[in-house]
Amino acid sequence: MDLGIAGRRALVCASSKGLGRACAQALADAGCEVTILARTRADVERAAGEIGERAGRAVAWVACDITTAEGRASALAACPQPDILVNNAGGPPPGDFRDWSRDDWIRALDANMLAPIALIKATVDAMVERRFGRIVNITSAAVKAPMEGLGLSTAARSGLTGFVAGLARTVARHNVTLNNLMPGLFETDRLRVGLAAQARMAGQDADAFHAMRRDTSVAGRFGRPEEFGAYCAFLCSAHAGYVVGQNLLIDGGAFPGTF
Ligand code: NAD
Repeated sequence: MDLGIAGRRALVCASSKGLGRACAQALADAGCEVTILARTRADVERAAGEIGERAGRAVAWVACDITTAEGRASALAACPQPDILVNNAGGPPPGDFRDWSRDDWIRALDANMLAPIALIKATVDAMVERRFGRIVNITSAAVKAPMEGLGLSTAARSGLTGFVAGLARTVARHNVTLNNLMPGLFETDRLRVGLAAQARMAGQDADAFHAMRRDTSVAGRFGRPEEFGAYCAFLCSAHAGYVVGQNLLIDGGAFPGTF
């Protein structure tokens, strides 16, 4: 399918690996002018080269921390006026809320709520003027079905979700959409590290625990990042202008509800 977004400028945050990178790849494959970012220069430069080589087009990159104001300024300098914005950042660490300080809460809010809102603020009005914009926030299945220990993540992302629900309804008539993608368990470095930590706490072998979680899941496997990227690219496509303010769960059927 031609997604109808060839030549659109796309800024994809936190994208040297994992889900962000998969979104960047799918958008580059669809013909977008993609800019990726991550904190480590060597990683983001290498990822841009690899994504660009596969897509057959140059991919711009910038090394920055998207949770800081300076990082966001660098990102927007590298990709001024994006038509497509994919908000993403690392997730907060799991733990017990009794151990979290105010600083822990502020860090989580900065990364997973305030950084995306700041980027939306910096870009959405120009999208309205151009009568095209697609903003996708990578949140988490934990927003829909809270998981033990993920309170920082769930709370910060729920705040973003509430904000997006309101804003999305004010710009939809200008062909500007905001939606959230809620990943379940996808085969990325973050998942591997997270499962290894759970295995340690349970006193189990990391590989055996990983295989058990995969094999006992509803789909019998974890999600592939490229599946996530393809969904993101469709949401950013010319065809998705009527998908407004939605929270789209991609979890291989793990959530047991009918709706
Ligand atoms: P990942 O660790 O594989 O990749 C994270 C990417 O973000 C890397 O490129 C890293 O360099 C970059 N990054 C992290 N912090 C950054 C920052 N402050 N500034 C710029 N770049 C930064 O992680 P992932 O699995 O792709 O997860 C992406 C997001 O989705 C995370 O917020 C994660 O919590 C969430 N999530 C992931 C899963 C999953 O199963 N993988 C499930 C639910 C939610």
